[in-house]
Amino acid sequence: MSSVTEIFGSMVFNDAVMQERLPKEIYRSLKRTIEEGTPLDITVANSVANAMKNWAIEKGATHFTHWFQPMTGITAEKHDSFITPAGNGRVIMEFSGKELIKGEPDGSSFPSGGLRATCEARGYTAWDPTSFAFIKDGSLCIPTAFCSYGGEALDKKTPLLKSMETLDKNCRRVLKLFGKEVKHVTPTVGSEQEYFLIDKKLYDKREDLVFCNRTLFGAKPPKGQELEDHYFGAIKPRVNAFMKDLDEELWKLGVLSKTKHNEVAPAQHEMAPVFTTTNLATDHNQLTMEMMKKVALRHGLVCILHEKPFEGVNGSGKHNNWSLSTDTGENLLEPGNTPEDNAQFLLFLTAVIKAVDEYQDLLRLSVAYAGNDHRLGANEAPPAIISIFLGDELTEVLNSITEGKPYDKKAKQVMKLGVDVLPAFPKDNTDRNRTSPFAFTGNKFEFRSLGASMSIACPNIMLNTIVADSLSFFADELEKADDFNKALNALIKKTLQEHKRIIFNGDGYSQEWVEEAERRGLSNLKTTSDAMPHFLDKKNVELFLRHKVHTVPEMEARYEIQMEEYSKVLSIEAKTMVDMVNKEIIPAVVKYMEKTAESALKVKSVLPALSCTTQVNLVHKVSVLSDELAALTQTLSEITGEALGIKDVTEAAVFFTKKVVPAMDNVREKADQLELVIGKDFWPFPTYGDLLFKI
Ligand code: ADP
Ligand code: MG
Repeated sequence: MSSVTEIFGSMVFNDAVMQERLPKEIYRSLKRTIEEGTPLDITVANSVANAMKNWAIEKGATHFTHWFQPMTGITAEKHDSFITPAGNGRVIMEFSGKELIKGEPDGSSFPSGGLRATCEARGYTAWDPTSFAFIKDGSLCIPTAFCSYGGEALDKKTPLLKSMETLDKNCRRVLKLFGKEVKHVTPTVGSEQEYFLIDKKLYDKREDLVFCNRTLFGAKPPKGQELEDHYFGAIKPRVNAFMKDLDEELWKLGVLSKTKHNEVAPAQHEMAPVFTTTNLATDHNQLTMEMMKKVALRHGLVCILHEKPFEGVNGSGKHNNWSLSTDTGENLLEPGNTPEDNAQFLLFLTAVIKAVDEYQDLLRLSVAYAGNDHRLGANEAPPAIISIFLGDELTEVLNSITEGKPYDKKAKQVMKLGVDVLPAFPKDNTDRNRTSPFAFTGNKFEFRSLGASMSIACPNIMLNTIVADSLSFFADELEKADDFNKALNALIKKTLQEHKRIIFNGDGYSQEWVEEAERRGLSNLKTTSDAMPHFLDKKNVELFLRHKVHTVPEMEARYEIQMEEYSKVLSIEAKTMVDMVNKEIIPAVVKYMEKTAESALKVKSVLPALSCTTQVNLVHKVSVLSDELAALTQTLSEITGEALGIKDVTEAAVFFTKKVVPAMDNVREKADQLELVIGKDFWPFPTYGDLLFKI
C-alpha cells in the first residue's frame, strides 16, 4: 500500500484537482457555484466536463454515471461510456457540459409514490456541485439530485440540500443578532456505522439471509454476548484484513474513515469517519455501506447491515453525530469561554430542545423502517420514545435559568445569562448514558436511533428543518426586541420552561421511563405503522412548506413509498419463512423422525427387551412440535395472503404489524424449539453458533 496521504482522495475530483486542472477563470466560476449556489454557465460546464473526463480517463475510467439516491434508500447509477463514433470505424472519448449537468435516466422503476405515471416515466438528474465527482469501478460518478419532470424531488438529496439551506439562513439570522456576520453555517455530521461480518459459505446456505438480510429462525447458541468479550476485543486476522482493505478503498474515495473496532455482539464491528458537512457525510455513508459489502466479498465474507440480523444479540445502528459549524470555524454547539459565547451557545441549545420536543414524531418516523422496529425499544437500542440527554451538570444549569435556583449547590451560585461563565462540563460525563436516543455529547448531539442499513438523509432533513424552525422563531422574536439581552434571557427561560419535559437523563430502557414519559405527554410510537402516518400531520406539513423543503405532493408520495416498502419487506419475510419451513425444516424433521424410528426398530430387532425410550420420546416430541409448526405456518401463509389483498397503504401496513408479525413470531418459536431437539446433522441450515462464531 502506498502512503495514506498519497492514496487519500486519489479517486476524487476534489478542490485540489480542480485547481490544478481548470483554467483560473473556470475554477473561480465553479467555486462560486459550489459556495454560493450561483447557476453554472454552459461554457464553464463544458470546460469542467472536459477536465473531468481527461482526469478520469487517466485513472482508467471508461464510463460516466449520474450517481443519485432515489427513495429506495440506496444509490442508483446508469453507466454510459465516453465513446463517440468518429467515422471510419473509430471512436473518440467525449463528455460534454450538458451531460455533466443533466441526465435523463428512465426512472420508471424507481418508487415515486404516484408522482410520476409510468407513461411519463422520465425524471432527470441534476449535478450537485457541492459534492465532488469520483471514480468507482471504472466509472466517473457524478453526485446528482433526482427530480420528476414536474420538478418534484424523487430522491433524498434534494430535500437534504434544501434543509441545509433553511438552516444556514436561520442560523445566520440569529448570529447576526450576536453581532456576527458569517458567510455560511453548515450542519456537520459524523455517522458511526455498525455491521456484521458472516462467512459467505454459511450465508449462502440460509435463504432468510439471502432474501431478507436477517435470520428468521435460529435458537440461541450456548454462548451469546454475555461475556462481553467481543467489545473492543482483538480483531481476528480475517476481519482485520477486511478492515484494512476497506479503509484503503474508502480513503481513495475521500471518505475520512477514522475508527474501527469490534462491537458488543459476536461478529459485529463498527467504523466511524471524521465528521464533515451533512451532504458529503450522507454521500460518504452511502459509499461506505456499498464498499463494506463489496470488500467483504473479496474476503469470502458477507457484510450484513440489517438492523437486527440475529435475535438475542445486539442489532446494528448508526449514530448520527450532528453539530453546526460556521465558515469561520466556530462550532455553535460548543459551550464558549465567555458569558457572551455562553449565551449564544445556550440559545442554540435551547433551539434544539424546542425543536426535538415539538417534532418528536418527525425524528421518530425518520428512523422508522421494518428492520429498525426490531431494535427501538427492544432493550438494546434507544427506546421508541424520543428524549434528550443533557447530563446532570448542564441540566442543573438550565434548571438554574428557568427556576432561578443555584446550579452550584455548594457555592449557591445562580446562572445569570450573559453575565456568568458556564462551568466546564467534563465531556466524558455527557457520553455515559447509552440508553438515550438523542444525547448532547459536549459539543454536538448524537442521534442514536438510526438503523444501520438506512440512508442518513431523512433524519438529517428532519433535524436541519426543525432546528431551522426554532431559530427562525427565535430570530423573529429577538429582531423586534428593544433590549436584546433582556429579550434573550426571557426567551431562553420561557422556551426551556415550555420544553423541559423532553429532557431525560435516566435509564431509557426502564419500564418506569415508559410510564413517566406518558405522564409527560411524550409520544411513544412503537412501530413504523404507528409512526409514519404522523408525517402528514398538519403541523408537519406546514413546517416543510414554511421552509420549502417538501411540497405537499412530495410528502404524500414519500409517505406512500415508505408505507408500501414496510409492507413489502414484511411480506418477503413472511413468504421466506413459509418457504423455509415447508421446503427445508419439515423435510428435515421428517427425515429425523424416520431415522430415529428406524433406529428403535433396529435396536429392538437385536434386543427385543429394550424399551428404546429415548428414540420413542424423541419421535413423539418432534412429531408434536412439527404438527404445531405446520399448522402455524399454514396460518401465517393465509394471513399474509390476506394482507397482500389490502389496497390502502396505511391499512395494509397496520395489518402487517398487528397480524403478520405475531404470526411470524409464532412460527419462529416452534421452529427454534425443534432446532434444539433434532440432531445437528439433520438441521437444514447453519445455526447461530456457526454464523456468529465461525469466521
Ligand atoms: P464515540 O461516540 O464513539 O465516543 P466520538 O464522540 O469521539 O466517539 O465521535 C463520534 C463521531 O462524532 C465521529 O464520527 C466524529 O467525527 C463525530 N463528531 C465529532 N465532532 C463533531 C461535530 N462537531 N459535528 C459532527 N460530528 C462530530
Ligand atoms: Mg458515539
